[in-house]
Amino acid sequence: MLNTLKIILEIQEFDMQLIQLMRLKKERLKELDNLNGIKNNLQKQVAFKEAEISELKKNQRMFESEVNDIVAKIKKLEGQQNSVKKLEEFNALTHEMSQAEKERTAKELRLSDLIDRLNAEEDALKSLNETLESTLENGKVLESEIVESISRINAEGRELKEQRDALVAHADPEIFQIYERLLRNKKDRVVVPIENRCCSGCHIMLTAQNENLVRKGERLVFCEHCSRIHYWPESEALEGTKVATKQRRRRGASKV
Ligand SMILES: [Zn+2]
Repeated sequence: MLNTLKIILEIQEFDMQLIQLMRLKKERLKELDNLNGIKNNLQKQVAFKEAEISELKKNQRMFESEVNDIVAKIKKLEGQQNSVKKLEEFNALTHEMSQAEKERTAKELRLSDLIDRLNAEEDALKSLNETLESTLENGKVLESEIVESISRINAEGRELKEQRDALVAHADPEIFQIYERLLRNKKDRVVVPIENRCCSGCHIMLTAQNENLVRKGERLVFCEHCSRIHYWPESEALEGTKVATKQRRRRGASKV
């Protein structure tokens, strides 16, 4: 049994590296997303500000033409006043002119407010554009760094996958299928050693009977708590494999 598990253990090491790579890739893709989000947001703000400014300019032109109309009207009234003979008519025109002057003052005041606002918005647009420009500039460096790292991850992943698939070709298909199903579920090591009578996957204490079965290594033994497959770490079959070296290293490290 252990000989069949040995190859699965080696496949598992590749799968762990592949899972780690996938996580890394996901993180980097998220960074890329964030970067694009910031860019899009700034671009939207610029477009919004530009629309606001163009609306203000339209209003400015409208107010200016209204002021011009009033000025023309006052001039016309002045001309009329020069030619009237009756005092009543003269007074009526004076009244109308003073009304028009009031209207003109009010409009000019609003126009001046509008120009102040327009200037402020144009300043805001300028600084927004500066921020956008520097964000795009800095973003370019970061983006190419991320894209490069993703292509490195892809290349490394392809290489690992090739080596893994070469091993899979030699694995017991039935056990491999069980292993893959467990791996899909846990996204973590699913063939694990028993350490201090505990499942090193879920760290729950096992029965002596379970330990004996695993030690014998005659058939697949699953953890009754987490369904992982158990193996006995000191088996001779594992000597010289990457898995055994790793375990020894881990045990050595925990003593320090
Ligand atoms: Zn377990």
